[in-house]
Amino acid sequence: MPETEPRWREQRSSPVIRRGLLPSGDDARLGANEAPYGPPQPVLDAIMRSAVQGNNYAFDASGPLLGGLERWLGVPSSRILLGAGSNDILERAILALAGPGNEIVYPTPAYPIYASATAAGQAVGVPVANAADGSNDLEALRAAVTPNTSLLILCNPHNPTGGHAPTSAIAELVDGVPPGVVILLDEAYWEFSDEFQEGGQGGRGLLDAHPNLVCSRTFSKFFGLAGLRVGYGLVGSEELAAQLRLRQGPGAVTRVSLAGAEAALECIDIYRERLDELRRERERVAAACTELGLDPLPSQTNFLLMPEPLPQTAERMLEHGVWIRPGATMGCPGQIRVTIGTPAQNDRMLELLAGLVEEAGAPGSGDGEPVAAP
Ligand code: PMP
Repeated sequence: MPETEPRWREQRSSPVIRRGLLPSGDDARLGANEAPYGPPQPVLDAIMRSAVQGNNYAFDASGPLLGGLERWLGVPSSRILLGAGSNDILERAILALAGPGNEIVYPTPAYPIYASATAAGQAVGVPVANAADGSNDLEALRAAVTPNTSLLILCNPHNPTGGHAPTSAIAELVDGVPPGVVILLDEAYWEFSDEFQEGGQGGRGLLDAHPNLVCSRTFSKFFGLAGLRVGYGLVGSEELAAQLRLRQGPGAVTRVSLAGAEAALECIDIYRERLDELRRERERVAAACTELGLDPLPSQTNFLLMPEPLPQTAERMLEHGVWIRPGATMGCPGQIRVTIGTPAQNDRMLELLAGLVEEAGAPGSGDGEPVAAP
């Protein structure tokens, strides 16, 4: 197979994906931090309507979505980039700031595209270990910036650990970085954070004072449209936005995807209800895992990272139709990452996990009440 997509090396080499074993239908896909529910009806309707124009390119179709984002977030559309998922935004920004001799600082372990796009751009990667609570080690990241640094990447909330640094701390860091260094703040999981719940703005609130800041966000997580591939970048200045826009051909996001995302912005109330359920389930699943002796890291995302009760836990759960992610594939050996699904999927996952804990004789197994009913 040609080596076209280095960032997915890990996924391709996973026996699960290679053998086409991912669960579907009634099984639980809890391995990719996807939403458990499909698009709401108004989003499906918009997708169907847009499909009629499948014969037309999309270069003139992004206006309504840009307008919707401008109204929702208060950022002028001249400072918004659209991409095929936020992956596309991240990759383009990294490649634009890479180049021989440039240093790119990023947390590790973290979303793998930071390292792979840095390598693809022939820049020098400077990985910085996370803090003990799983969030970015902001002090260490700041200290890693040198006169050769072109780009500093932050992932907040953080994947794969789920940790979240308050925006006030991010602001302090951003203030202390020389203005010639671009800061790329990956906020793919922003809407799952307490700050979002409390009406905060996250990185968006820092943009106007920081022309060198890019906030990368997505329709894949909170809006649950991962299969449509729509992400966006909010940029601190028009100049930087124009520089990053140069790296994309016209119409890279499809008409169908643009229409779905635009309709999703009109369904915020539905998504907020889904978010309420997800946050409740996140607490319930975390408490149940703690009860099992697995102590997940505190999470402000739609997933939990915890120690695995037995080697091959993910593979064993897959045999029972529950797909979770082994930490070894994300730089966290001995851990598992579990996406929060529907209540029924979570029950199923917890039931299997409880069985493995019992088998392992891990701390907590056999104590107290049964953790979850199937
Ligand atoms: N950033 C992080 C931290 C992620 O975990 C992901 C996907 N899981 C992405 C970016 C990219 O997501 P998408 O391309 O679907 O927007």
